[in-house]
Amino acid sequence: MNDLSMSGVATFDAERVRQDFPILNQEVNGNPLVYLDNAATTQKPDAVIQAIVDYYRTDNSNVHRGAHTLADRATEKFEAARLKVASYVNAGEARQIIWTRGTSEGINLVASSWGRTHLKQGDRVLVSAMEHHSNIVPWQMVALEVGATVEAIPVDETGTLDLDALASMLDERVKMVACGHVSNALGTINPVEQIIGMAHASGALCLIDGAQAISHFDVDVQALDCDFYVFSAHKLFGPTGLGVLYGKLDLLHAMPPYQGGGEMIETVSFAGTTYNQLPYKFEAGTPHIAGVIGFGAAIDYLQQLDRRGAQAHEQALLAYAEKRAQETPGVQLIGTSASKTSVLSFLLEGTHPQDVGMLLDQQGVAVRTGNHCAQPIMDQFGIPGTIRASFAFYNTLSDVDRLFEALAKARQFLV
Ligand code: PMP
Repeated sequence: MNDLSMSGVATFDAERVRQDFPILNQEVNGNPLVYLDNAATTQKPDAVIQAIVDYYRTDNSNVHRGAHTLADRATEKFEAARLKVASYVNAGEARQIIWTRGTSEGINLVASSWGRTHLKQGDRVLVSAMEHHSNIVPWQMVALEVGATVEAIPVDETGTLDLDALASMLDERVKMVACGHVSNALGTINPVEQIIGMAHASGALCLIDGAQAISHFDVDVQALDCDFYVFSAHKLFGPTGLGVLYGKLDLLHAMPPYQGGGEMIETVSFAGTTYNQLPYKFEAGTPHIAGVIGFGAAIDYLQQLDRRGAQAHEQALLAYAEKRAQETPGVQLIGTSASKTSVLSFLLEGTHPQDVGMLLDQQGVAVRTGNHCAQPIMDQFGIPGTIRASFAFYNTLSDVDRLFEALAKARQFLV
């Protein structure tokens, strides 16, 4: 098909892998589906769907409380998934993996529990200018309460974070640097190892929003030395409504609970209540048991995949898509950092992103349009939003060709 199909891609059989994802094998609006909205959510392999079905068909029970066999089975699978995730991100201990509802809840948990305890009047929280709203608003909420400020680390016109500016912003009043590992709107991979080092050298903690990184490359939380790392299961081929907060043990130990309820307590009386140990202190109420077990299956699925090959394949998809974009009249890429994951954010001259998205959908091509919950960076670029095609390892070069064929038709119609 082209040069790229011969390099990197050759070692990874995306056509075979996509057979594991039943949803991809369908027609949408009379055309074979091309799913290019993976930054919003990834599709689920059969193994994940089956694990959830099996749980409900054979093991459904509440966890940690049972005095019967089903509860034991459910608890065993639930905790096994925690171990799998701990190993996947190389956390030192499984109790450093807290189940949340998603990235958003993970950040809210830290902002609320750690933030309310440690942030004081005059303190500063730094976030990058390209953050998702989930990594801005929770900090603004707590900052408003305690009299702290939330400030943006500048991003240049290519969508690259300005580390010199970060260096000049850091002072003893900065208590937290909260930064995305990968931008969902632009695809930029931020040099988080460096950012974490800079934050620590200045006496600040560092939270990394890994929502967009975790599906594209290996994450080692100990090597990164981040204080907190958050991500969502649904962006890593697992179920929706589930996420992970990793934290350093001493910090998690010192943090008060985020929500009260069952499971998070040790003893309750009207004279006073004591809290459970980690990770349960942060897991009030019945958790998303089916989701956790499904997520365990997603991790197993990923572990047997050729992940190096998958990464090379995704990079080849991005390179090919960027080449096609450059050859296509009227396409302007938004986010051209030297270090990117497989996100192609762009504008089509003379059109509104939403109209283009609708015409692509009519041709069976699913992309996302809008501000991608990253309004500040869209404002900086002076645009209301972009058209975003985001790739996963099950996408193929012919998916990219279909995108550009559909774009050409949309352009004919709109311009
Ligand atoms: N951060 C980033 C970078 C994201 O891309 C997303 C999801 N688009 C989120 C946070 C929020 O994730 P969730 O909706 O799963 O909580």
